[in-house]
Amino acid sequence: MGERVAALPIARSVTQEMNAGLTAAVLPDEVRKTVFAMGAKQAPGSDGFTGKFFKAFWGIVGDSVVDAVCSFFTSGRMLRSFNHTWLTLIPKVDNVESIRQLRPISLCQFVYKIITKILAERLSGILPNIVSSGQNAFIRDRQIVENILLGHELMHYLKTKKQGKKGYMALKVDMEKAYDRVEWPFLLAVLDKMGFNTVWQGWIYECLRSSSFSVLMNGTPSGFFRPSRGLRQGDPLSPLLFVLCTEGFAALLRKAIEDKKLEGVKVAPRAPRTSHLFFADDSYLFLRGTLQECENLITVLNEYEELSGQRVNLAKSAVCFSKNVVVPDQEFLAAILGVGALGVQDKYLGLPTLIARSKMETFRYLEEKLLERLQGWKRRTLSWAAKETLIKSIALALPLHVMSCFKMPLSLCRLLDKHVARFWWGDEEGHSRIRWMAWRDMCKSKHEGGMGFRRFEQFNQALLAKIGWRILAEPQSLLAQVYKGKYFPSGHFLNAKARSRPSWGWQSVLYGRDLLEMGLRWQIGNGHSASLLRSPWIPQLQLDPPRYNPVVLPEGGDPTVAEVICQGEGRWCDRKLNQWFDPPTCRIIKTIPLPRQNIEDKLIWHFTSDGVFSVKSAYHLAVSLDRRRGSWRASASWMDRSSWIRLWDANIPPKLKVFVWQILNRILPTTEALFERKVPILPRCPVCWDGPETMEHLFLDCPVARALWGLSGLEYLGEGLPRHTFPLFLKRLMALIQQPPLFMAVVAVLWRIWRSRNWVVFEGKQFGFPALMRQFSQQYEEWMGLPIEVPSMPPPPTVPRSDGPGQAAGFICQWDGATRKGSHSAGGMVLRSPAGEVLMAHGIQIPGIDDPVVVELLVLREAIAWCLGQGVSGIRFEGDAKIIIDKINCRDARDSRLGAVLEEVLHFFVISPGFSVRFIGRSRNRVAHLVARKALSLYPTMSRFFDFRTWLGSRV
Ligand SMILES: [Zn+2]
Repeated sequence: MGERVAALPIARSVTQEMNAGLTAAVLPDEVRKTVFAMGAKQAPGSDGFTGKFFKAFWGIVGDSVVDAVCSFFTSGRMLRSFNHTWLTLIPKVDNVESIRQLRPISLCQFVYKIITKILAERLSGILPNIVSSGQNAFIRDRQIVENILLGHELMHYLKTKKQGKKGYMALKVDMEKAYDRVEWPFLLAVLDKMGFNTVWQGWIYECLRSSSFSVLMNGTPSGFFRPSRGLRQGDPLSPLLFVLCTEGFAALLRKAIEDKKLEGVKVAPRAPRTSHLFFADDSYLFLRGTLQECENLITVLNEYEELSGQRVNLAKSAVCFSKNVVVPDQEFLAAILGVGALGVQDKYLGLPTLIARSKMETFRYLEEKLLERLQGWKRRTLSWAAKETLIKSIALALPLHVMSCFKMPLSLCRLLDKHVARFWWGDEEGHSRIRWMAWRDMCKSKHEGGMGFRRFEQFNQALLAKIGWRILAEPQSLLAQVYKGKYFPSGHFLNAKARSRPSWGWQSVLYGRDLLEMGLRWQIGNGHSASLLRSPWIPQLQLDPPRYNPVVLPEGGDPTVAEVICQGEGRWCDRKLNQWFDPPTCRIIKTIPLPRQNIEDKLIWHFTSDGVFSVKSAYHLAVSLDRRRGSWRASASWMDRSSWIRLWDANIPPKLKVFVWQILNRILPTTEALFERKVPILPRCPVCWDGPETMEHLFLDCPVARALWGLSGLEYLGEGLPRHTFPLFLKRLMALIQQPPLFMAVVAVLWRIWRSRNWVVFEGKQFGFPALMRQFSQQYEEWMGLPIEVPSMPPPPTVPRSDGPGQAAGFICQWDGATRKGSHSAGGMVLRSPAGEVLMAHGIQIPGIDDPVVVELLVLREAIAWCLGQGVSGIRFEGDAKIIIDKINCRDARDSRLGAVLEEVLHFFVISPGFSVRFIGRSRNRVAHLVARKALSLYPTMSRFFDFRTWLGSRV
């Protein structure tokens, strides 16, 4: 084996420094960092404990973990004999008195995870430098996008090659069960040939060799298997090792090309020859369409299988020929290989390989996918803030993959924008709601008064600009080389044209380049590369090129910036500058520092502080360019950037931020605003009927507003501020308020005014001051009096969760409330393991509220926050508050008593599929009840520090 691999053309690319880095001593700190960087939600091992658990108990288990990990790296031996039996004891209580208060934890799986994580971390750092071009999978600095575009370019070549003697073919190959068939000796021989030193090889071998697993049957592990080949699924090291294994395949193909047994494909005479594109197990091979080459390829595949265990499943592979191979030949060659024909609908890495003349036809499926998503959400009652999250995290991310590679038709982009907007405004079938704001204004960043949604057209261009940036930054990459060979063989990327019959991929890159060029700037060194008059190189004049004096332009000349530099002196030549530019421009130029050394000019990205391209900044550039073109006016606003930042950074619930945002943008649906938008409604104040319902009336002059301001004791804040325009008033007020809680209080007043008003409008209730005061003081206390942090909503999962063991048998949280009439209330919550054992307990006090139902809801909200704090990804909440539980399970947020908090809690369950709530009888909720009673009896400040778990002790 070793000799056969040694004969392959694999470059010895692992240097001595790389080896030194790979095998450097592992220090305790590295172990600790690795543990703390591990995902809290990572699936628990056989012991059921997640990374989060180990982090929480690091003080207790830390030393043992570090010792175990380090012993592997110093001895090179995995502690296999301890497998399954290596235990450590975690105290269940603070003062351990008996062995029953200790919980045994098996460390082994966790330790193995850390070890491979450390190895993977080190290996992935050097992988981009040692793996040949043509395979991009799992490697940090190369991208799936490049492989997609390469595949597309090569297929485009085959599709358009109608003449010439040589015909070509592309074979999309399917590797069978790739991971578990990897032969270890082959992998190790490749590692050796690449130059990995023996220590590293030893570590890798030890990880492979020591792996063993048991099978869970009826909940108990049984059997013990020790494989002799293959890589483990889910091990962070496996994908990287698989890439190295594939490197052996690439070498076999290279050898065949060297021996003239295979030819590969060149998309143009000066483009590199490409024989393969690997992306994990989704791979393409390219060869000439001859019997000889097909047979040679079969030999290579057989050899690879024999060496590595990797088998190509030809029955599942497909082939595609260039147009100049006649059909009978195509059929004959496909039969020799035993493969089918590649269909038009076939996809490579999730994208269509062949793009039809009608782009709309090719990409239409994006619209369908988006509509499907939006339709699913429409049935639910969602707050603005929830919609914002959904749109940003899912709807806009949906077409990201495609939009990073190809230009979408403009009509499709507009259509997608339209669908998202319709979802946001809540259009029903055949009935559209009022557009309170133009969608392009909604798409402005939050700091400019928008919601920060993305417009598909501009975002698409920003994503494509990134490809251009990579071509500039990495001209040696395979994609850059292929493009250069075909489209700009003797020129520069920035001057390249479409040429005849360009691929859609290349046209997309050029479209992105249009944007890229607007943001590229020369960082001046010696000035020899940048054109004095045509290139952007003056930071302050990025989008407005400098005006120069055309009289001094030499005949047919295009001077470089070097013209106006006193070389070697690190300064500008005043005399020449004055000759070329007007005095203001000269002043600006002289602020650019110059090096004394001879340093080349460098193209940088103007719109980031580090000069490196970012999609986000490119998107903002695209939007502002669109605005400059005058296709839309920026809406005039009294708000400035800092005021918007103040709003969005404020520590108040998202829902309330959107509410304030509506006020400041003057788009709150008051009767007057509705009337202005042609809704047949009387523009009167629905509460007092005294004058039109403007925002000024609603929030300042209406009796409700006056009463609530008075009640809050915050009236003084607005004294002396102009009251004729409420948004302006609020903006000034926000600027005045320095303490965050005070802002929260102001928002609480505004929100309650709006809710009370809606109460009158929608519930038809008569408005009464006693009720108003009660509601307000209840809400005010709840927001201001309690240190309740509103739990931040986790983004909804983008993939359906699997029903792994951690999910099916989830944790349970039981909660209960306890009230003392006319005084205060309290709540208890206990976290139970899937087996029902009480793991933790927690109690809280709620001053000022004695309505048992309200208390139950507040305690539930606290319980959610508490559980999220423990890092569990799914939990079933159990309680005896039937009203609340029914409301949540029926997705019904309407309840005047529970109000906004119910909406908030409901929203949490709506967007968090792992969490559910269930009713249980009082008798089964005894423990939570005990905790709640205990919390009620404690001195107010005590409840926060009281150790409920210990106190429960024998009571459970
Ligand atoms: Zn009024």
